[in-house]
Amino acid sequence: MTETGASTTPTREQDALGDLIVCPSCDLVYTVPDVGPRERAVCLRCRRVLIAPRRKAGKQLIALALTVLILIVAASIFPFLAIDAGGLHHKASILDTALAFHGMLSVLSVAVLFFIVVIPMLRLCLLIYVLVPLIRDRPPAPLSREAFALSEALVPWSMAEIFAIGCAVALVKLSDLADVVYGPAAWMFAVLVVLVVATDRLMCRYSIWKSLES
Ligand SMILES: [Zn+2]
Repeated sequence: MTETGASTTPTREQDALGDLIVCPSCDLVYTVPDVGPRERAVCLRCRRVLIAPRRKAGKQLIALALTVLILIVAASIFPFLAIDAGGLHHKASILDTALAFHGMLSVLSVAVLFFIVVIPMLRLCLLIYVLVPLIRDRPPAPLSREAFALSEALVPWSMAEIFAIGCAVALVKLSDLADVVYGPAAWMFAVLVVLVVATDRLMCRYSIWKSLES
């Protein structure tokens, strides 16, 4: 894959805003370079990928988003883990765990459900809503720009994969005290972590915004 360093032309007043791109990591402003289908533009200062158009990325993104959606629903319902300790056997799913809190701790239930189930699902639904008309060469759906902006704003609050990593660390520590058996949901979350990273790597935000403008 060819890498194209974005040109560090300073902002000029006569430059239209549409010709500028800002690095999301270090805020350096560039004029938009010409990037071919198999090329990508990276920030010269922090090496962050700014533009990486790929053919058929839309269809692959929708497929990935649908897979992650199904995995989140299944991972919430199937048992996450089973614990054997002192002759007692207990297994729990994410939904069981979230709904087990009462009183003041019910705030925690709502937070867990929101950050690891509701927000990731909402984000993926918005992404699919935005991408479906684009891959069919139709005009963008109503409010597509707002939907994509909201989907991007939800990225820091979408914590399904962070939850999976946190659980893995906690379970390794717990395995000293009791026999821990990972349920199907734990493996689904493991796959989910990989798919979320793949979705993020595949998505060229600049290309989506440009498609929504046209
Ligand atoms: Zn940068």
